[in-house]
Amino acid sequence: MLREIADRDPKETDADAPAELKVGYQGEPGAFGEVAAAAHGGAPVPFASFEKVLEALGQGVIDEAVFPLENAIVGGITEALEPLAAGVLRGLDLVATGLTSVPVRLALSAKQGTPIGDVKRAWSHPAALRQCTQRLAAMGIEPVVCYDTAGAAKIIAADASTDAAICSRHAAEMSGLDVLIEDVSDRDQNSTRFVHLRQADHARARVPLAFLRTSSMTATTRLDVLTGATLLPLAGTPEHPVRMWVLGADAARLQALAPARDVQVVSLGQPAPHASRLPPKEGTAPAVKSLPHATARKPATVVEVGPFKVGGGHRAMIAGPCSVESPEQVMRIAREVAACGATALRGGVFKPRTNPYAFQGHGYEALEWLAAASREVKLPIVTEVMAVDQVQQVAQKADVLQIGARNMQNFDLLRAVGRAGRPVLLKRGAGATTDEWLGAAEYVMASGESRVMLCERGIRTFEPSTRNTLDLGGMLAVRPLTHLPLLADPSHAAGRADLVEGLARAAWASGADGLIVEVHDDPARALCDSEQALVPTRFAELARALALDPNAHLPLAQLRAWVDAIDHDLAELVKRRLDVARVIGDSKRQTGRAVLDPKREAAVRRTYYEALPTSKQLADKLVDLLIEAARAQQSIEE
Ligand code: PEP
Ligand code: MN
Repeated sequence: MLREIADRDPKETDADAPAELKVGYQGEPGAFGEVAAAAHGGAPVPFASFEKVLEALGQGVIDEAVFPLENAIVGGITEALEPLAAGVLRGLDLVATGLTSVPVRLALSAKQGTPIGDVKRAWSHPAALRQCTQRLAAMGIEPVVCYDTAGAAKIIAADASTDAAICSRHAAEMSGLDVLIEDVSDRDQNSTRFVHLRQADHARARVPLAFLRTSSMTATTRLDVLTGATLLPLAGTPEHPVRMWVLGADAARLQALAPARDVQVVSLGQPAPHASRLPPKEGTAPAVKSLPHATARKPATVVEVGPFKVGGGHRAMIAGPCSVESPEQVMRIAREVAACGATALRGGVFKPRTNPYAFQGHGYEALEWLAAASREVKLPIVTEVMAVDQVQQVAQKADVLQIGARNMQNFDLLRAVGRAGRPVLLKRGAGATTDEWLGAAEYVMASGESRVMLCERGIRTFEPSTRNTLDLGGMLAVRPLTHLPLLADPSHAAGRADLVEGLARAAWASGADGLIVEVHDDPARALCDSEQALVPTRFAELARALALDPNAHLPLAQLRAWVDAIDHDLAELVKRRLDVARVIGDSKRQTGRAVLDPKREAAVRRTYYEALPTSKQLADKLVDLLIEAARAQQSIEE
């Protein structure tokens, strides 16, 4: 049901939504932009300039805008990109919701009866004129710039001369012109790609953007090679020194790699990890109307219990055994995970088992053992409740109540935990859609508990090699719809210890607010889920790899291992820096630019000063060494 709401055709929206999606484009009716604007059933609205289109989008006069980005013959269309970049730099928060490729046939058109030999000048938009420079030159026709292709047809229709317009056949016919040549494009198969843009807080940006590639790239750098991003070069202005337009990539990452500080990188579209930090904005209607609590547009919900804090940039690591087996077992494992920097202790006392004869959990007795371990290591408890009549008693000892995958749609249970006064960790059902998952969260919230964490733990697919399929795509799809923290459970998704670390890293990298991981110090003898438990040393490696800041009193051996891991990463990063510096050097040489750049070196030094404000000397030494090594690598003679 909810998916229909999120993906619905704009024409089918409810009463207070616009009856028809108004899509702005630059130009006159009959322009190529109009075709792009109508591509998804929208109602095209013409504007005289790209700036006016953006203004209308910013004021909510139109719902969407189309901007031509790239043409098959001439590459990036700077006439559109420059105002777009300026708009973004002024603070317009845009997301790209799709791309439309419009076939372009540039009809040379003149007033009825004009012999082609009499045409000395042709009017059109500068980007269109660039696409037929050679043909016009060959015919001895002089290009004349005006604001639009269809606008050119109007000008010619009202003009007494034998000048021509270069526009679509449709535009020519609308102005009553004769088409003298069907297509004067310099190459066959001409087309232009338009990007559809919306204001970030209005967009339900679900369409992943395809990357563009443009031939005019070579003049910039090889950042695209290094990062896989798509760059469109822009001239920029002194006030807005934009040199690159990045489509669908992480601007922050590219900025760090940009060859000079005066090169500004702006990014269009929300890359996943970035998007994950962008919950719906405050003060507007919920992302899904029927779920006012779970999809309210408000700042990220931060769930906090003692050292456990998750959401809004705080990340959590919940770890512990699948089930609490004995007082000693849970105490030992609690100590291990706490030492690795876990922020909460998990452990099941009521276990949902497929087979009724399998171990069902030690119940309330085990809750006492879990509570003792929790007190000892000072980590809050996360434990599952399976039935309504368990809720009150478990809530007296547990800090977070977990709803297991199998109970995600046990609505009575959801209501009961919603009234228990404890935060809730809501696992996604193995057969539940993301909409149903959000619906389950709404039940809990509507019953009074606002501190709900959603946990993706894998869904059932046809793939038998893993216990479930960790649906990170589903998790990311939920991100823009909800302010609630999103966690991932790589253990139940993998069902096997060897895959847990990989899935954990993937979930972490895709922006999960936290993880819940099963750890056991004797997996072979575990009473439940023995195949997927990580032994403490492997959990320690994982915790280090994710750079958890434990703030815990780590034993010396753990701290040493951590430093070793950091040194390893540092050495790898230094090597990568040298590789990248070499590619930049090659690229600069190819394009005839000076390889050495004192301004750039100063910028690098500033970066190190900022990161090491109390160790300037160390920063200086490091930068000196790096620059020296990079020069040697680039084989530059001083
Ligand atoms: C668990 O966390 O131990 C558990 C049973 O998980 P799920 O409900 O995701 O299967
Ligand atoms: Mn388990």
